[in-house]
Amino acid sequence: MRLIDGYDAALFDLDGVLYLGPQPVPGAVAALQALDAEEIRVLYVTNNAAREARVVIDQLRSLGYSADDHNVLTSAQVAAAGLAEQLPAGATVLCAGSPNLAGLLERAGFEVVYSAADKPVAVIQGYHPKMDWRVLDEVCLAIQAGARWYATNDDASRPTDRGLVPGVGGAVSVVRLVVGGEPIVFGKPHQPMLREAMRRAAATRPIFVGDRLDTDISGANGVGIDSLLVFTGAHGKEDLVQASPEQRPTHIGAGVSALLAPVRPLSLSADRAECRGQVVTADQGRAVLAGPVPPGAEEQLDVLWAVAQLAWVQPELDCRALLESLTLVR
Ligand SMILES: [Mg+2]
Repeated sequence: MRLIDGYDAALFDLDGVLYLGPQPVPGAVAALQALDAEEIRVLYVTNNAAREARVVIDQLRSLGYSADDHNVLTSAQVAAAGLAEQLPAGATVLCAGSPNLAGLLERAGFEVVYSAADKPVAVIQGYHPKMDWRVLDEVCLAIQAGARWYATNDDASRPTDRGLVPGVGGAVSVVRLVVGGEPIVFGKPHQPMLREAMRRAAATRPIFVGDRLDTDISGANGVGIDSLLVFTGAHGKEDLVQASPEQRPTHIGAGVSALLAPVRPLSLSADRAECRGQVVTADQGRAVLAGPVPPGAEEQLDVLWAVAQLAWVQPELDCRALLESLTLVR
C-alpha cells in the first residue's frame, strides 16, 4: 500500500517542502502532478502572513504546481476569519502587520487603525518586512490599555538564502518582554490553522507534509492528524532522533514523493528496531546497525527510521556514530 492510500487529503507546508527560495524542490512537482492526476485533494498551508494568497498562488503556479484560491491557505486569512469570530462586528483593530493583513481585516469588516490612541479593542501582529519599530510602541500601549493581543503566527525565524533572520515571533517576543502574557496565535503549530485547513480540504483523514518538527509536525499532532516529515528543508536526522513526543512524525520520507511510495514498515521491541531488513539494536547504550551501512538513500532512511524509533523509547541511547554514518541523509 502506498502512503497516500491511507488518507483522503494531503496538506502541504511550502518552504522547504515544495520550494527552496526560488526553486522547486527536486521531484516535488512531479509528485504533486501525480496526486492531481488521481484527484487527491491537496491544500497548501503557509504561515507567511505578509504575502497575499494571490502571490502565493502565482508563485506555486510558476513553479509548476496547480494552485488556486480554493487550495491555498495563509495564516493571515485564518487570523482575519478568527478575529471575525471573536470580536464584535466592525470592531477597531490595530494592525501591526503587512498591507495584506490590513486588507483582509478590512474585508472582514474591521476598522483598521495604527495607533493606540484610536482605542483598538484588539491588536494583531503579523510579519511585515518593513515593520517600523514605532508600531511596537503602539502595540504595547494598546495592550496595556486593555486591547486583546493576537498574532498571525509566531515563527521565531525565517530561512533565507543568506541564513536565518527574525520572523514575526521576534516582534511578538519584544512585546511579551514589555507587557507579559501571551497572544492568541492562529498559524502553525497552533490549532486554528490546522483546523481550517482540514475544513477547507473537507478531509476526515488528511496527512500533513512538512519539514519542521516544531511547527508542521507538532501542529499535526496537536489536532490529531498524521504527518510526513521530509528532509528537503529545515530539519534533519539529528532533529528527528531528538524529537520530543509531541514533535514526532507518523512517517518520514526523503521528499514529498514518499507519499506515492509504500509505507515504511517498522517492528520495534525494547532493544531492537527493524525497518525493511535494516536492524538496529541498543548495545551497551549505543545504537548499532546489524551489517554494513547500506549504499542507497532510501535504505539509509530505513536505518534512520529504526534508529529514531529505538531512541524514542530509549532517550539515553547514543546514536551519534550511527547517524554520522548515514551520509546520504541530511
Ligand atoms: Mg517549511
